[in-house]
Amino acid sequence: MDDKVKLRCPACTRIFSEVASRIRDEAQVNCRNCNKLITLTTEDPFLRRALKAAREIRAAKDAAVHAAIYSGVASAPKRETP
Ligand SMILES: [Zn+2]
Repeated sequence: MDDKVKLRCPACTRIFSEVASRIRDEAQVNCRNCNKLITLTTEDPFLRRALKAAREIRAAKDAAVHAAIYSGVASAPKRETP
């Protein structure tokens, strides 16, 4: 399963990938291209999309873990945010 999320650097506008577990609201990541420290904020539409994608990946992973523990009845709640 691909747990990488694409981020667009607000400084150099290049696209790079980061693992979903590191992508959270107000988290900070370094750009792979210009090395600038980026604060992940929903004010940037590209970062907001990345945050949403990361949340969905984490939810899917949680669901997979729950399914493994309670094999059979895997009715994980869907965490959909507008
Ligand atoms: Zn950059």
